[in-house]
Amino acid sequence: MLMLYNTLSKRVEEFKPLNEFRVKMYFCGPTVYDYMHIGHARAYVAADVLKRYLSLKGYDVLHVQNITDIDDKIIKKANDENVSWEVITERYIKDYIDMLNRLNIKIHIHPRVSDHIKDIIEFIEDLISKGYAYVTPSGSVYFSVDSYPHYGELSGRLDRTEWRQEEEFLAEKKKPYDFALWKAAKPGEPYWESPWGKGRPGWHIECSVMSSKYLGSQFDIHGGGQDLIFPHHENERAQSEARFGLRPWVKYWFHVGYLTIRKEKMSKSLGNVIYLKDIFNKVKPEVLRLWVLSAHYRTPLEFSEEYLENANKLFNRLVSSVNLLKKLLTEVEPTHYLDERGISILKELSNIRESFYRAMDDDLNTPKALACVHELTTLVFRDLEQKPTLASVLKAYSIMREFNEVLGVLDNYIYTGVKEELLNKLIELLVIIRQKHREVKDYETADWIRSELMKLGVKLMDYKDRSKWVLEL
Ligand SMILES: [Zn+2]
Repeated sequence: MLMLYNTLSKRVEEFKPLNEFRVKMYFCGPTVYDYMHIGHARAYVAADVLKRYLSLKGYDVLHVQNITDIDDKIIKKANDENVSWEVITERYIKDYIDMLNRLNIKIHIHPRVSDHIKDIIEFIEDLISKGYAYVTPSGSVYFSVDSYPHYGELSGRLDRTEWRQEEEFLAEKKKPYDFALWKAAKPGEPYWESPWGKGRPGWHIECSVMSSKYLGSQFDIHGGGQDLIFPHHENERAQSEARFGLRPWVKYWFHVGYLTIRKEKMSKSLGNVIYLKDIFNKVKPEVLRLWVLSAHYRTPLEFSEEYLENANKLFNRLVSSVNLLKKLLTEVEPTHYLDERGISILKELSNIRESFYRAMDDDLNTPKALACVHELTTLVFRDLEQKPTLASVLKAYSIMREFNEVLGVLDNYIYTGVKEELLNKLIELLVIIRQKHREVKDYETADWIRSELMKLGVKLMDYKDRSKWVLEL
């Protein structure tokens, strides 16, 4: 039974999705005005591990993660560089997708705000007609916080006299804590036509709109970094529960802790931001994943060379043990008899597997789960290498594969080998096809095949009468 911390109730709860077989989750993605940094990696790996664990437990998970491609920061960056906002967003969306791929994170739907303007307008019109929002003479629309009685419950900010938001609009808002749903266009800014004139959506509305479009008006998990709890998630919740008249809009709120460097929060203003594109020159994405999992997702995660080195050691140990298991699998004889030690190894393996699940069930306690992974490798090196039996090797290998469903760091080692022969034959076939093009002097196609193979890590070397190839992975 999975127990998960819920920011709304502020306690660990038993996880029961709205539909017993399916889990629908929405995670707030990046505002694309800069390259991805290790803080993004932390949040997205945490969400990915939650999704992977739910999938491992048999749920059919649908994961939506938005891309904010309309925002003040994007407009500023475009003005600074004297290019259109699309140039900026395209550049950083490419980086975002590239980094997710390297981190082995797969997301079903990446909705972009600029593709959902019509849906956003519809949502806002509904809020206005239901009395939750108001239009100002400038052509902006604001959410009236006082009209929604549960405002502040998620973040615990119930006393509204204490705070205000979006201060630049204080003059036209009815209350200092109301927030923009639609911002009237200022000169030189990108805009879209709307019933209230030219303008663009405020930040918070996009997530209410895109989550409901793909996941329905109620869903299971909404996540993001802890810094999004207020005001972003508080505002999203207000808009959605107001429009749909359903509570709770989201069953479980999942928030990921900060990243620290020398115990200070990583931030642009402190100038200590570490970009993924840079760190990947030194550290494998798999190692970064293991480092993220070395801390519980709700606690601060400290960045240090030492922690990365620990993760690197664990990764190398995992790879060696997988390679050893694969080798043993081809060598061991069928098991007809087990001595006492052989029987107790099988029990130990089952215990390690159970401890891993117990740790993950305990609000995704990944540090504990990693300790189980370490224990498994110890058993592989200590016992299986010395005295392997088919029973123990098979069991250890299948547990390793199961663990990797959550860790996502061994795909390149686990999923190769079995079909290697077929892979080799297919490459050979492409080499022969290319050779045939060369023979009829169709060098264009031949070169194209060569360069496409190169992109996949297959390097061709041409000799007088034949070509050889080598895998450069
Ligand atoms: Zn959001």
